[in-house]
Amino acid sequence: MKAIVDQEICIGCGLCVGICPVVFEINADGKAVAKVDIVPCDSEAECKDAADQCPVEAIVVQ
Ligand code: SF4
Repeated sequence: MKAIVDQEICIGCGLCVGICPVVFEINADGKAVAKVDIVPCDSEAECKDAADQCPVEAIVVQ
């Protein structure tokens, strides 16, 4: 599974980092990015949860 953050949509609230810090971090521009190419199996549920809870639906998991 992969996670992609749309930089145009992300408002940098940090919620996804709080929910799934294994996958997400805030970059120098104040936007969330996925810091891993492949989401580790044991973090997939957290990652999907982060995508579901993102207030602007900026996270796509595939
Ligand atoms: S939860 Fe959504 S808006 Fe907030 S930092 Fe993460 S990707 Fe950006």
